[in-house]
Order: sequence, then structure tokens, then C-alpha cells
Amino acid sequence: MIAVMKSKIFYCALVIFTITVQGCYSQTAPTKKNNVMDNQKKNPVYSNTDTSKVVLSDDEWKKILPSDVYNVARQKGTERPFTSAYETSHETGTYYCAVCGNALFKSDTKFESGCGWPSFYEPISKSSIIYAPDDSYGMHRTEVMCGRCKSHLGHVFDDGPPPTHLRYCINGVVLDFKKAQEAEKNYNAQQNKSDNK
Ligand SMILES: [Zn+2]
Repeated sequence: MIAVMKSKIFYCALVIFTITVQGCYSQTAPTKKNNVMDNQKKNPVYSNTDTSKVVLSDDEWKKILPSDVYNVARQKGTERPFTSAYETSHETGTYYCAVCGNALFKSDTKFESGCGWPSFYEPISKSSIIYAPDDSYGMHRTEVMCGRCKSHLGHVFDDGPPPTHLRYCINGVVLDFKKAQEAEKNYNAQQNKSDNK
């Protein structure tokens, strides 16, 4: 168990080091997630209900996506660790693909891996994710992409918690979170109660 933890910590350190080195050569500063509503107005393929596949040219993606989303989603970039507000978020709801709106993960499968990126142990459905081998940077990893628009999301590792023991390590910039309506209603009711006291 300690050996597993050690190798996990070593791996995290390695990834952070790689990203930091990459970051030194990158001209683009990490930008805060742009206003989701503005993005969606500009993006004609965004839908939380349409499951038909989206195939656009690189030029078309470049036009409709904010540069930070385009960089990760279409150029397989990696956001800097510990920069996504979703990494430590505990809100109840659903995480969608920020590129096309496809439902990807439920908040109850999210856990804090400590690795610097939002982590989940299970996707929302089998078809929500596409997998591909990734041997870049001298590592053997499995890339995960959106099942609808094939955007790069992150990687999956086999050191996650039960029941799947998988860790989907996802760039927060390509996620779009929506609170569960039921949970939101309960929360608002609670707020009203305490306001009336
Ligand atoms: Zn997508």
C-alpha cells in the first residue's frame, strides 16, 4: 500500500514537473475559465441533449472555442495543475464537455486525488468517453476524449478508489458544471428556512 502511495506521489511529481517545464516554454498564460454562457452562444454545436456526433475542422473549432479550451481540447494541451476551481469542488450536479455539452461525469463519482486536476472514478455512461493509447512524454498513458466531439479531456489511470479503481484525471477547462436541480431546490429551501428564522 505504501509502495502504491509512493509511486502515485512520484507520478504526480513527475507530471507536475513535466507541466512546469512545458509551462516555462509556453507563451500563453493560464486564463480563467471564460463565461460559460458567452461561450455557448458562440458555439452552435453545444447541447446537453443532442447526442449526435460532432465533426468539425480544426479551423472551425478555433473560431468557436475560447483559446484555453481550444488548446486543451483540440491540441491535447494540459492546464496547469491546481488551477481549476472544479478540482476541489464538492457541489452536486453533472459535469459536461465544455466543447459540445455532452454529459461526462456525475459529481458523486468525483474525488480529490490531490494530483492537481479534477478526478473521477467513473464516467456517466460507457459511450460518454472514448479511449486511446498515449505514449507521449515517454509515458504509457490512456488518453480520454469526449464520446460526442472527440475533444481531448485528460487521461485515465488505474490507481483510483473503489469500486472501479480508476482515476479519470480531467482538465477543468474542458468541463462545464451544472448543479443538480433537485439539490439546488433543497438548498434554496434550506436557505429560505434559515432566512426566516
Ligand atoms: Zn464534447
